[in-house]
Amino acid sequence: MAVKIHPSVDKGVKPGRKGFAGGTLTCKCASRPVTVTLASDVAFNHACGCSKCWKPDGAAFSVVAVVGRDKLSVTANPDKLKIVDPAAVIQRHACTGCGVHLYGRIENKAHPFYGFDFVHVELSKDEGWAAPEFAAFVSSIIETGAAKPEEMAGVRARLKELGLEPYDCLSPALMDAIATHTAKSRGTLKA
Ligand SMILES: [Zn+2]
Ligand SMILES: [Zn+2]
Repeated sequence: MAVKIHPSVDKGVKPGRKGFAGGTLTCKCASRPVTVTLASDVAFNHACGCSKCWKPDGAAFSVVAVVGRDKLSVTANPDKLKIVDPAAVIQRHACTGCGVHLYGRIENKAHPFYGFDFVHVELSKDEGWAAPEFAAFVSSIIETGAAKPEEMAGVRARLKELGLEPYDCLSPALMDAIATHTAKSRGTLKA
């Protein structure tokens, strides 16, 4: 049996649709669900093995993407949202009814990813979202208890089979973006 990664990719990664213009995320509450509307497609969609991202029960990884914060608006029941950990770099706004994270926001303007919100497009019935492209923080699933060390070779093989190149930090493009931001702020790299 194949290693379980996340329900939205376990049967194969569904490609996104070019020109997809966004849609609505809805939490799992049966009554008064929180909805968040995204006015564009997401970018850098990926599987994430960290312990902080929201994921459905039984999944080893979350699937998380970014969207410009100016493209995100809470469109129903904002009173149900609460920040999971106000001290965290990414402030994850979760529904107090069902526990789903609707979006994660960075308030530190000096952070390399300031301006991006983190979202889970599996909360949307709309189809066409940019597909997951890689897997980040893969080794962290040992820490979360989702896999044993001896299972990791199988997990990485499965991720590769799905076309989700496994990384133990972020992907090279995102690591380069962070390093570029740091180098510019230190003056090492002239803009
Ligand atoms: Zn809810
Ligand atoms: Zn994560």
